[in-house]
Amino acid sequence: MTHRRTLAVSAGRPPRTPGAGVNAPLVTSTTHHHGGEAVYRRQLGTVDSEVSAFEEALGALEGGQALAFASGTAATSAVFDVVPTGSGIVVPDVCYYNSRVVAEEAGDDGRLRVSVVDTSDTEATCAAMDDLGDVALLWLETPSNPMLRVSDLAALTEAAHARGALVAVDSTFNTPFVLRPLEFGADVVVHSATKYIAGHSDALIGATVTRPGSDVGERLTRRRHRGGAMPGALEAFLALRGLRTLPLRMDAAQAGAAELAARLSQHPAVVEVRHLSLPDDPFHDRAAEQMDGYGAVLTFRLGDAAVAERVCESVRLIAHATSLGGVESLIERRARYAGDAAHGVPDDLVRLSVGVEHVEDLWADLSQAIGAARSA
Ligand SMILES: *Cc1c(COP(=O)(O)O)cnc(C)c1O
Repeated sequence: MTHRRTLAVSAGRPPRTPGAGVNAPLVTSTTHHHGGEAVYRRQLGTVDSEVSAFEEALGALEGGQALAFASGTAATSAVFDVVPTGSGIVVPDVCYYNSRVVAEEAGDDGRLRVSVVDTSDTEATCAAMDDLGDVALLWLETPSNPMLRVSDLAALTEAAHARGALVAVDSTFNTPFVLRPLEFGADVVVHSATKYIAGHSDALIGATVTRPGSDVGERLTRRRHRGGAMPGALEAFLALRGLRTLPLRMDAAQAGAAELAARLSQHPAVVEVRHLSLPDDPFHDRAAEQMDGYGAVLTFRLGDAAVAERVCESVRLIAHATSLGGVESLIERRARYAGDAAHGVPDDLVRLSVGVEHVEDLWADLSQAIGAARSA
């Protein structure tokens, strides 16, 4: 098999016609003349376009069939939308805030029966599925945002399938270079390609990946068409361009995150550091077993919300901004959002998405910011 790093470069290329471009063209027309394969933009995923080129490349990397959406949120909503009305679903107690809320609102509307549980606890998750009786979907996010909890994918997919449920995994924090959920039996992989895959904080785009020809894949394709959640041409073009260098960016960012986590855990002002690379991290062993790396998001706590907030305000190289997965490092105190605070994220927890800057420059900035925050 071709190495994944090579596939990132070679997959999703147009045929090698003499004189033709080596990249899929950026086609901005929303409609096309009849006579060939006449399409409207909403159907463009079905013909050669930058969207289908992106899907081909991402599918090759995940080992399945990718379907691009207008955002990670659109992809997430599509998965919940194709669950039959009245079914039970299980979602994590702490995860990307909006994902849990989308599920809970479907519960409030009476469309789905929703159970919220710590999905890094396999026993509790099985019990939640049993309590629901008829369960159609187990939604996982591993590692989870921002608590970096890791679910046991092999055990949970087996348990879910035994109960007739599909398993969807939001794998945004991993990318296919760190984890491939389909290999563990998951049925749907969900990405906010806005993050690592596009990688430059300049494109909003999402994707699902399913097994070729699967029923859930066909339902998602219909759902995207009906809901009109196609990504824009430029976004798909940028996501594919980002994908070409994804393995290099992931390697650099993960190495930087591991080094910063090790240094932070020696810092006298820091009361807790979480990064899956740390040998004493509660999820280190599980991560080592099922992942090909430890990701590039770390969190740390300073024991006081005001100090944590001042650290975020004192950085000069790192940007004080939300989101993650870009080439530039981003920092924020998650509990600044009422939603994350309500879901139990500690008020002094700082999330750092490590980019690809030189680690010594990042460390210099972080240590000066912690110093400034404490002396203020
Ligand atoms: C950002 C994010 C999403 C939502 O994706 P958008 O592309 O911003 O809509 C979903 N899940 C996770 C884990 C994310 O980080």
